[in-house]
Amino acid sequence: MLDRFQRKITRLRISVTDLCNLYCVYCRPPQGVHHMPRKEILSFEEITLVARCAAQLGVRSFRLTGGEPLTRRNLKSLVASLSSIPGVEDLAMTTNGVLLRRYARALKEAGLMRINISLDSLQKERFRQITGGGNIEDVLEGIEAAVDAGFEQVKVNMVVMRGINEDEVEDFARLSMDKPLEVRFIEYMAFGCRMIEEKKFVPGQEVLERIRKVGDLVLADAENPCRGGAARSGRTAPPLRGPAKCYRLKGARGVLGLILPVSQPFCGDCNRLRLTSQGKLRACLLSGGEVDLKTILRSEYLVSHGKPSASLEKALVEAFIKASNMKPAIHSGRGEPVMCQIGG
Ligand code: SAM
Repeated sequence: MLDRFQRKITRLRISVTDLCNLYCVYCRPPQGVHHMPRKEILSFEEITLVARCAAQLGVRSFRLTGGEPLTRRNLKSLVASLSSIPGVEDLAMTTNGVLLRRYARALKEAGLMRINISLDSLQKERFRQITGGGNIEDVLEGIEAAVDAGFEQVKVNMVVMRGINEDEVEDFARLSMDKPLEVRFIEYMAFGCRMIEEKKFVPGQEVLERIRKVGDLVLADAENPCRGGAARSGRTAPPLRGPAKCYRLKGARGVLGLILPVSQPFCGDCNRLRLTSQGKLRACLLSGGEVDLKTILRSEYLVSHGKPSASLEKALVEAFIKASNMKPAIHSGRGEPVMCQIGG
């Protein structure tokens, strides 16, 4: 599926819940979040139908997010359904890691391939403050559990923020020395025109300079360890590209990635759509534009043996094409996405 600007849409982010078990200061809107009643959230069957349709249109890479995806009960059954869809080559999840120790192995067995764990401080008290009461030990144990479970990739994502955690960039870079982790530094996005938020922005170039203090850096893009969708055995398609610029510290087991949505926007290569937990298919994180799939899903009948009717499939395909064509050439940056609902 190509959009108006001939970008090939190969990725779908699926937010499975609008609930989260952390209250990160920079993620939640100041006015708070209005949570949807349970019945307004897509069921696993509905999500699977949407994913099946996306796969038919050439989407190859799926990522579960939230809210916090691990707060959704029995997530492993959704993982199992998605991983069995023909054409799905990459199945990943973004999590805060708090509940990961409990679920890592079962998710791996169900077919999850890769995990990104969000972590913005390695300091106990600072982590507690940023997350509104979280316990860093839970996340560190979750990271260990993910490495032990043998996922193709385990990434740790740090959003670098001025005056909050920028002084920890070097410590995060060192995490890649002994463990096969990919540690990624993400530029903070100040949504809308909130000047106070813009002050938190730290340019990727500054992050790179800090990392260079830790040791010699080599470019690691060519190794392709962090471009998303590491080869699944028997897969023939080329790797799916992600937005990170990758480096390796000399002698390190893991890699470092820089994601620069602000200083080097990657809209020209954007290959993704987003499904919100309430069933909106969103064209762009920052520019709005969405198609309501829930209305389609709930107004069409699923006929015989749980299989979608031809008319439902047709309506979903049309909705995907419509959403793809809503993708702007470059984001306006003026949207005010509720990250904890759309999933970043
Ligand atoms: N609960 C999951 C987690 O913590 O990874 C998934 C949802 S969370 C909204 C997804 C990602 O969005 C997190 O890595 C978070 O740090 C990132 N995020 C939220 N607000 C952001 C902002 N203003 N700029 C950059 N990243 C942001």
